[in-house]
Amino acid sequence: MESQELWKAVLGEIELQISRPNFLTWLKQSQLIGKDNKDGVALVGLPNNFAKEWVKNRYHKIILGSLRNFDSSIKNVDYSVVHQSFVGEGISVAQKKKIGGDKDELVPQLPLELKIDPKTNLNPKYTLESFIVGSSNELAYAAMQAVIKDVGKKYNPLFVYGGVGLGKTHLMQGAGNEIVRYYQKNINVLYVTSEKFLNDVVSAIRNKRIEDMKKKYRDVDVLIIDDIQFIGGKATTEQEFFHTFNALYENNKQIIISSDRPPSAIPTLEERLRSRFEGGMIADISYPDYEMRLAILKTKAQKKEFIVEDKVLEHIASKVQKNIRELEGVLNKVVFYIQHKGGIDPKRLDEIINETIQVTSKNITVQEVIKTVADFFEISPIDLTNRGRKKEVVEPRQIAMYLLRDMLKLSYPHIGEKLGKRDHTTAIHACEKIEKEINRNQQFNQKIMMIKEKLYKS
Ligand code: ADP
Ligand code: MG
Repeated sequence: MESQELWKAVLGEIELQISRPNFLTWLKQSQLIGKDNKDGVALVGLPNNFAKEWVKNRYHKIILGSLRNFDSSIKNVDYSVVHQSFVGEGISVAQKKKIGGDKDELVPQLPLELKIDPKTNLNPKYTLESFIVGSSNELAYAAMQAVIKDVGKKYNPLFVYGGVGLGKTHLMQGAGNEIVRYYQKNINVLYVTSEKFLNDVVSAIRNKRIEDMKKKYRDVDVLIIDDIQFIGGKATTEQEFFHTFNALYENNKQIIISSDRPPSAIPTLEERLRSRFEGGMIADISYPDYEMRLAILKTKAQKKEFIVEDKVLEHIASKVQKNIRELEGVLNKVVFYIQHKGGIDPKRLDEIINETIQVTSKNITVQEVIKTVADFFEISPIDLTNRGRKKEVVEPRQIAMYLLRDMLKLSYPHIGEKLGKRDHTTAIHACEKIEKEINRNQQFNQKIMMIKEKLYKS
């Protein structure tokens, strides 16, 4: 059986055994990457680390059992992260590589992360050719072009800001790839997310390798830092970043930064860092207008070599307004649907649109934070909202407080009130403690990120 078909059959079985929301959240986006025929290990791909851990911990038994029902040569299952945008591609690569002769052979493929250049951290899938320019992003695009032509001299730093899914990462990585291509080996480009930068700083301090870390960052000619808003408020990182920034800046090295908001709106950002940012060029990316959304859809559909009726594309463009990632997501689902069912009716189309929009742009509520944290630690939400001081609920409660502050921006008194009717000093203490722990302990940080990811997806 082909891996795709095998996996479809397995999912069909699992779907009957677990709840619908769990199935949709955790397994719908999974795939069977392949099987090692020698040791009988099947490799299952999940879209992110969180899903990987979750599925491995909760559903391993069911998955293994079900796989073995269809293919008794499978002895075990391994899990790996496969970034979503590669999923379609990944499957076809696996199929192309299929060795003739043995029909049942599933050829394991290279982990897809390997496509990312380890030296620059750039993902080759982001190119400027595939970046569609319209009124919402033309300023940022033009500034980026100027930077590419005149690295380090024209706009430094270039600070690009805009909402989620509007193309910041695409534009910056596309520029990075373009710079590498244009200047070839003569230029060092490095792309990092601010979380990666933060982790590097923390682990350099912990392992006493600060000099190595400094060298790594200060040796680059073009430093691209994505989502800088996460650096704000973390004193050590911010200081280290400031020094790195100055060292690069003074040597005419190019710095490109993105954020979900302008520097003036990152409340915890140190003043001197803010004024440095404001000294360069600031360009925003706003929501694409209807024409641009339609152009994006048409281009992406064309790339898939799949014809979708204009009226379907027009409908999607009119409904999905605030996020290009969602636009792509709807298109992918619609194409998939049409391929399998031969067409799509307006009702189903609207269902797909509503599903997709809700996933990423709904506002997270206090109740969801409480429930997600409780689920994560397998305790009852009531334990979090009660005054109880049992050891196993104290830290989860502090984490919930931290998340209410960090993600929902609730006031401390409000947070204290919601979680155990405590006063605001308890809430402040909890948030500080968790924040410290995040900076100190990478594993802990990972845990918090997993919970956040789960919240965004819930
Ligand atoms: P952000 O970093 O702002 O959250 P991304 O760069 O990750 O957004 O973009 C989300 C998705 O939308 C990506 O798949 C990206 O390729 C696509 N995208 C965004 N803007 C454009 C654009 N102008 N042209 C083509 N694709 C785009
Ligand atoms: Mg991004």
